[in-house]
Amino acid sequence: MLADNLLRVRQRIRASCEKSGRSADEVRLVCVTKEASLDQMREILRLGAGIFGENTVQGALSKYRAIGDKAKWHLVGHLQTNKAKDAVRIFSLIHSVDTIRLAGEIDKEAKKISKIQDILIQVNVSGEETKFGAAPDAAKGLLKEISSYPNIRVLGLMTIAPEVDDPRLTRRYFRRLKELFDDIGGLQILSMGMSNDFEVAIEEGATMVRIGRAIFRSDGRYE
Ligand SMILES: *Cc1c(COP(=O)(O)O)cnc(C)c1O
Repeated sequence: MLADNLLRVRQRIRASCEKSGRSADEVRLVCVTKEASLDQMREILRLGAGIFGENTVQGALSKYRAIGDKAKWHLVGHLQTNKAKDAVRIFSLIHSVDTIRLAGEIDKEAKKISKIQDILIQVNVSGEETKFGAAPDAAKGLLKEISSYPNIRVLGLMTIAPEVDDPRLTRRYFRRLKELFDDIGGLQILSMGMSNDFEVAIEEGATMVRIGRAIFRSDGRYE
């Protein structure tokens, strides 16, 4: 079941890459494991998918203790400053940095363990008030400020598109983040696209997709 789902997701990633004239190895898959069991995660590892995305530090901790560094761990959800200490110990990439205060805390905690913490800046491209993320206009300034922290390395940008029925709208948000990504320049990772919109995201330039339900739901369905 899981193997079929994963295979299908990989095929769809490859097809989207082909459709948009990109090479399939340009897009990395983060398996979002927030609803997955340890058994499922171990199976996914055996199937050769090695990046797990969790949306809270709390949720990741016990799984990390059980599985450890056999996987790479990404934090895809919001990070509270008081959890930065645990976050830098677990995650190889934090997708959700959106304030200078949070970056400062990450830098401080990373320094304590002599780590350079890789991060992405989360951008709220839709302007929805319920979403975390820096405003697109502020992202460049934030990135510049964060770049002065010695124990943080900014690798790229991340966004969560709003759930809308019209895929053309979703495309517009992804396109906007890609424009910002190109405008800033020198970045490697563009993290956008989830189970319901990853194909559009890849067509618009995503280099990393974060997929949970299409892999871990029993039938791979997510409608
Ligand atoms: C849950 C989550 C995902 C994965 O969503 P699915 O719809 O399950 O694919 C991706 N990114 C973030 C930030 C999430 O919280």
